[in-house]
Amino acid sequence: MSFYTPLDSISRYIETCNKYHNEHQKRLNLNNENEELQYRLTLLKKLYFAVKDNMEEIILCLYQDFHKSRQEVVSGEIISLLSNILDLIKNLPQWIKNRKVHSDLPLFHNSQVEIQRIPYGTCCIIGPSNFPVLLLLDPLACALAGGNSVILKPSELTPKTTVTITSIIEKTFQDYDGLVKVINGGPLETMEIFNGPLVNKVFYTGSPAVGKIIMKMASEQLIPVTLELGGKSPVFITPSVNLEKLEDIVRRIYFSSFGNAGQICMAADYILCHKDVYIKFIACCKKIYNEMFLNITYKTEYTHMISERAYDKIIKILKRTNAKEIYHLGESNQVELFIPPTLLIDVNWEDSSMEMENFGPILPILQYENLDDCLDNIISKPRRSHPLAEYIFSQDKLEIQYIQNRLKSGGCCINDTLLHVLLDCAPFSGIGSSGFGSYHSEWSYNCFTHERTVLNRPFDADPDNSRFRCPPYSKEKSDF
Ligand code: NAD
Repeated sequence: MSFYTPLDSISRYIETCNKYHNEHQKRLNLNNENEELQYRLTLLKKLYFAVKDNMEEIILCLYQDFHKSRQEVVSGEIISLLSNILDLIKNLPQWIKNRKVHSDLPLFHNSQVEIQRIPYGTCCIIGPSNFPVLLLLDPLACALAGGNSVILKPSELTPKTTVTITSIIEKTFQDYDGLVKVINGGPLETMEIFNGPLVNKVFYTGSPAVGKIIMKMASEQLIPVTLELGGKSPVFITPSVNLEKLEDIVRRIYFSSFGNAGQICMAADYILCHKDVYIKFIACCKKIYNEMFLNITYKTEYTHMISERAYDKIIKILKRTNAKEIYHLGESNQVELFIPPTLLIDVNWEDSSMEMENFGPILPILQYENLDDCLDNIISKPRRSHPLAEYIFSQDKLEIQYIQNRLKSGGCCINDTLLHVLLDCAPFSGIGSSGFGSYHSEWSYNCFTHERTVLNRPFDADPDNSRFRCPPYSKEKSDF
């Protein structure tokens, strides 16, 4: 039996969410601000325990869906999710407060000004396949912290996980009918969300190609969107790289290129290595590869490709590559959708692996001589010009700054990869084709609330009872 939501129920789901939000706003106890805070904290705590208590089932489902290992699920999805919810619980009492501000302009003498953060209403969260729990439920927590109702649209590519998450969410919030509704399905069901009653905010995580479709649909109804997309995130190995730490450097790169079988939005997508350190670097890449993947097979605790389509895409790239050397141990297995981590050594800019985000366990390595030519090559192609992340392995501050200044990216890690996403004190977002709109920590709260300025102006601020500012105007009025 299909787990897809019938198309003709989707409008009703949105209506239920809109109704729930409106009824909730009606019921707000204006004499007790603390009540709303407590209500939102209760929801966050429910979500926290729902994830924690069902962790084993989630781990099993992700294994069944694409052979994701326990360690990868626990560290990459569950711990991040739980600690993000705890961060919201800890900080919400502060963030929820209206912020009083002051203007020195005489016009606002004695006025009261405050900035409120109000919920959007119903937020629609569309999740991706690669981290189907974290990247669906983390935005859910943020939206609930912001006081919204939520339509959740998980990825259809991880059916076991999606069915389990749906049932966990329905059970957790069964006493709040309309607070969270899960819509399951693929493109058709997702598009249907835009054909029904208005949702008030869309938070989409996924590919740039689908991001464009979502933004187009949302723009028809002027729905604000946050787009968390992907892209080709480069790694720079510059001449001043710390050669004594080369082995550690290679492991730090493989962590993101081959973790989750390369299906990570900020994976180190390709390496640009300066010719002066190239031979040493390649030797080290092979050495560490052999250490890590000596006996790799489809049975190893190593994530598989999420779908046949994703598998075929990588196999096609491998068939067409012009790499001088294709380096890997283990063999692909079509039935299991398994592809072993693969180094594509010495590719050029025209290679099949340089056309779009690889999003698989392949790692092209290019040799460069001139940094400017290299940067020109990245920037000249729209698909490469604004990556989600850039990684720079260098000890030369000016060189690092030069690369940063020329290559605009969503985030940057120096001498490491990926870990900037875990920071609880900084925003996370793409730029240009890798998306827009930040979240994480306070930026998450901001993402799911509208910043409303409220001015309360006393009558004695206008001694002429507002005559001067009103039309019609005259020379006398403008002679001031
Ligand atoms: P995807 O774009 O194929 O799917 C994402 C969501 O969009 C799914 O829920 C899917 O059902 C829906 N969808 C797919 N096609 C659609 C269509 N034609 N019309 C309407 N909806 C549609 O992405 P994916 O394969 O699940 O995830 C991989 C992509 O997501 C990669 O590009 C990766 O870089 C990106 N990503 C970005 C982040 C980030 O935080 N920036 C995180 C994870 C993944």
